[in-house]
Amino acid sequence: MKISPYLHIHRIEFMTTYFCPGRCKHCSVGGRLHPKEGDIHVRAKEAADAVKTLSRIFPVSSVMTFGGEPLLFPETVCAIHQTAASCGIPARQIITNGYFSKEEERIQEVAQSLKNSGVNNLLLSVDAFHQETIPLDPVIAFAKSAKEAGIPKIQLHPAWLVNRLHKNPYNEKTERILNAFRGLEIPVSNGNDIFPAGNAIEYLAAYYPPADLDSLGSCGEVPYTEAPTKVTSISIEPNGDITVCGFPIGNIYRESIEAIVCRYNPFHNKCMAAAVTGGVPALRELAKENGVEPDFSRCYSICDLCRAAVGFQN
Ligand code: SF4
Repeated sequence: MKISPYLHIHRIEFMTTYFCPGRCKHCSVGGRLHPKEGDIHVRAKEAADAVKTLSRIFPVSSVMTFGGEPLLFPETVCAIHQTAASCGIPARQIITNGYFSKEEERIQEVAQSLKNSGVNNLLLSVDAFHQETIPLDPVIAFAKSAKEAGIPKIQLHPAWLVNRLHKNPYNEKTERILNAFRGLEIPVSNGNDIFPAGNAIEYLAAYYPPADLDSLGSCGEVPYTEAPTKVTSISIEPNGDITVCGFPIGNIYRESIEAIVCRYNPFHNKCMAAAVTGGVPALRELAKENGVEPDFSRCYSICDLCRAAVGFQN
């Protein structure tokens, strides 16, 4: 079987679940949280099998679990990382808000099982946005337990409104929240500069310049994107879909992952093809063909226009 020339996978990301105790104003998952139907988390066995197969075919160097809140389902998370470790994948990362239980014993147990499964980079999302709905005390207890368990690289991973240097009440509160962890001596990562997407368009747009059709960028140029013709990272969803740029390219519950990575061709997807070959003008044309009138005031990047062109908009 011949692997698609458009795939050069180094990273596998698991959207472990769409459930979460938080309700963050900056959440990029936004309206997709708490779905009414479908699998509540990615299936552990199929996920582990996907890691094994993909790491045999590609030089996979990192596996990441996030969500939603992945630690609502720690057994699934651990099965994925344990498999990644046994396949020799060096970077095994989790992004968590650290709030899945208030019970000291359970918190310690989960922290220890993460360590035992081989997680070697834990990014703890703490900031003004998370802490609007997520209590800080259990999160601090989890950070302490993760340190005691011996997880090698633990970092506080705040989201900054615009960027860390921007003066606004959210960033000021985030600095105070980070201070609450000072006694634990956990380093702070560069964090994540919030980009207007998902809930951020709804609640935080006032902090950003208005959406501008002339500066939507291109695939790979926009933060957290890459060209669909040079894919290095794929995502696996709770329903088994493998996605590239949010577009399902196959489903690991229904077909072999080898078949999916051989078949992938971005030019077979009208949206991807338009984005790659003609950028913004081609996507506008496609929207017209599809009878869709995108709300351009909500298009902050080519990705928003790409989704809008098939009738899905934030
Ligand atoms: S904790 Fe994460 S997934 Fe949950 S609402 Fe906040 S940003 Fe979204």
